[in-house]
Amino acid sequence: MELKFYSFDLKFRYPFKIASGIRTTTPVVFTELSVGGMTGYGEAALPPYLPENQESVIAWLKLLDLRDFNESFSPGDVISQLENESGDNFPAMAAIDMALHDLYGKIHNRPVHRIWADDTKHMPLNSYTLGMDTPAILTEKLKEAGDFSLLKVKLGGPYDNLIIKTVREHTTKALCVDANQGWNDEFYALDMICRLAEQNVLFVEQPFPKEDKKKYEWLFQRSPLPVIADESIQTSLDLDEAAELFHGINIKLMKCGGMQEAYRMIIKAKALNMKILIGCMSESSCGVTAAAQLASFADWTDLDGPLLITNDPFTGISYKYGRIVLSDAPGNGVEKRIA
Ligand code: MG
Repeated sequence: MELKFYSFDLKFRYPFKIASGIRTTTPVVFTELSVGGMTGYGEAALPPYLPENQESVIAWLKLLDLRDFNESFSPGDVISQLENESGDNFPAMAAIDMALHDLYGKIHNRPVHRIWADDTKHMPLNSYTLGMDTPAILTEKLKEAGDFSLLKVKLGGPYDNLIIKTVREHTTKALCVDANQGWNDEFYALDMICRLAEQNVLFVEQPFPKEDKKKYEWLFQRSPLPVIADESIQTSLDLDEAAELFHGINIKLMKCGGMQEAYRMIIKAKALNMKILIGCMSESSCGVTAAAQLASFADWTDLDGPLLITNDPFTGISYKYGRIVLSDAPGNGVEKRIA
């Protein structure tokens, strides 16, 4: 098996503003794994708040030696070897894991979502993300949301009430709220959530800093809406504790290290009776389409990364009536765009 990789910068359509900062690009590293004339594609997305970056991902990838694996590989065998031999670098691991699954599906001529799940007809609602913006820009973005029937509103700053008011002046669509750790006072948070619950908001993601476990414990007992952990959890190892503090989890391939670990998290979260959101960083269609292979297991998906960028080098995921549509192409169903 041969590995290639290269850096790339994804460009946002609008400067992307969340509680932790604003930016116009996201650095990524793409991977290509080839064997027997077929190629699988993967992506490591590296927004600046992650501990990893393009340099650390490339350094990690350079140390991999996959030459001993041939067409008869199974993704699990390769991943076990990586887990034993390579240090933790979750985005790099995800880039290899999704390329392995893409390649495996292509070799066996099956879409990966048919290997994991058998019912992909009933896909959950997929949210369309609105960053923190002025009322004028929010109004424009709301028009672009098209037939998406669930909108993700980024809160956690000084203008939360203005943002909700602006959105509600233009649409009655269902909302979900992501505070990105931006709230600090538990009474403020509970008051906000009680008011949001009356405005067709479905859940609230990561209201407090991840260290504030006492606040989460307090809110968990009182919130009228499900409170979903994003920054507070990373892999399946975090879920026993999270089940005491949150009603659900946001699974992202970049956080957990890939599709195999994401599947483990799904099984465990279901056993713990937790809600499941499958999300993404700002990623191209390569990473997002890989995550979408697991979408039918989720209560909601937040896989709109490709819609927020202007230079997507891949095709794959598509959307209809606010839900993901998966292709029946073998592998993850991603293809490189012809330049
Ligand atoms: Mg989030």
